[in-house]
Amino acid sequence: MVRILHPWRDTLQDLGVMGLVPLPVLRESTKEIPPRPILTQSRQEVDQEKNRKMAPPPDDPVAFPPPDRVAAAESLSSLEQLIQGCLACPLGCGRIRFVFGEGSPGAAMLFIGEGPGREEDLKGRPFVGKAGELLDRMLAAIGLDRSRVYIANVVKCRPPDNRTPTGPEAQRCLPYLRRQIELIRPTVIVTLGATPLRELLGVQAGITRIRGQWQRLDMLGGIPVMPTFHPAYVLRQYTQEVRRAVWNDLLAARKWLDGAGAKSP
Ligand code: URA
Repeated sequence: MVRILHPWRDTLQDLGVMGLVPLPVLRESTKEIPPRPILTQSRQEVDQEKNRKMAPPPDDPVAFPPPDRVAAAESLSSLEQLIQGCLACPLGCGRIRFVFGEGSPGAAMLFIGEGPGREEDLKGRPFVGKAGELLDRMLAAIGLDRSRVYIANVVKCRPPDNRTPTGPEAQRCLPYLRRQIELIRPTVIVTLGATPLRELLGVQAGITRIRGQWQRLDMLGGIPVMPTFHPAYVLRQYTQEVRRAVWNDLLAARKWLDGAGAKSP
């Protein structure tokens, strides 16, 4: 605006009438804008700082449930209460719902999957999507249902894009599963897919090779573990061979349970 008026002022001066015309009052907005300060932080540093501010302090018992309190939880419900706000690994920050697990707290048969998918994340319950429907049918095939078994996962929060949880994510979550096992005291465990076998038992062998072969979990004096295919895999490979393999594995687990007689499902 100032620059635009300059030629007029010159012309008025030339005409000798400058003193008769009031000089324009500069508005606030026409003042020169001070130069921007030079940013000393990169965008990445700014984001890191923001995250630092958002991250809970490591002594926050809701975000980082203390291991001694996890190990001492006296019931499944008090354990769930204690860990449901967990933010100890990146999966916690991305979840909608924490998926603790469900079923009979004194179940003789425990099923362990990998981790929640989209449906489970929305509902806060394990195996409620397509794979869950198949798991229900698998249970019915051996005369059981959800109310008579317990269903849990290695990780309690959904990995992005349903990817396999990383080793550190799984290991961070494992004390929760271990305490669940101690509280349920199952007579037999059925693992679904490679992840629970690898993370809980340290078995690295591929699931195709190892399924159907009894394993042993070194807890509570040794718990027999029957590894079988994950229902999501069965849905993808819906062949008679795969279905028969799962059927045989479940039947073996059921027979072992009946023979053990320790706890009836
Ligand atoms: N797959 C899993 O391993 N667990 C679930 O709860 C659902 C799908």
